[in-house]
Amino acid sequence: MTPEDAIGVESMTRQDELHERLALVDARIAAACAACGRSKDDVRLLVVTKTFPASDVAALARLGCAQVGESRDQEARAKREELGALADRVRWHMIGQVQRNKARSVAAWADVVESVDRLALAEVLSTGAQAAGRSMDVLIQVSLEESTHDQASRGGCPPDEVTELADRILGLPALRLAGVMAVAPHPGDPDRAFARLAEVHAMVLGIAPQASTVSAGMSADLEAAIAHGATQVRIGGAILGNRTVLR
Ligand SMILES: *Cc1c(COP(=O)(O)O)cnc(C)c1O
Repeated sequence: MTPEDAIGVESMTRQDELHERLALVDARIAAACAACGRSKDDVRLLVVTKTFPASDVAALARLGCAQVGESRDQEARAKREELGALADRVRWHMIGQVQRNKARSVAAWADVVESVDRLALAEVLSTGAQAAGRSMDVLIQVSLEESTHDQASRGGCPPDEVTELADRILGLPALRLAGVMAVAPHPGDPDRAFARLAEVHAMVLGIAPQASTVSAGMSADLEAAIAHGATQVRIGGAILGNRTVLR
């Protein structure tokens, strides 16, 4: 590294760094859309801020990011509180598994819950949202694991139970069913997984035409997800850097 480079690195603020990485991810999304003839406007970016400090959410909000994703109730709640009014400039998505005893708490801070995989959880979220005087968008998390053992351990509704769950969610007063979400199994073939998700989404649209969101694709596989119709990608590492805690 030359001394000039070192000066450049030192003076680069975290916000500059995030700005640069956002531009790179934006270019990847644009290229992936172009490659399959989709409009870039059809794919929204959710920046996954789990394990990173509230100051990063603040920087992202200032950079114009509209939504962030969190995976733990307590952590997300603390960040939202810490940011005060600034927190309301972004929509907060819960993307991690929700234990039933945390559902009421999640309903108090999350604008969207992407990880709804069973009716019991949806019911508590609806009650919690109602108690908080709000309504909430939810996505059904679809399990794309090949074995039922992995489905059970990683969360997600088995594909053949998704329409039944969708139908029941439509009957809950404080929830709006906005679409489906999935994580491609690792190891595994992301193309095959996201193709399956597209099939499941088509079935959901059959009973809930407004459920247009397909949340799929992370730092490593956003291109495959976009090729199979993702309308939202969830990107952590490629924007915020490596997580020291892996989850
Ligand atoms: C952590 C996480 C992401 C982001 O993953 P990266 O590989 O960091 O982009 C996306 N979706 C879910 C459900 C996650 O838990």
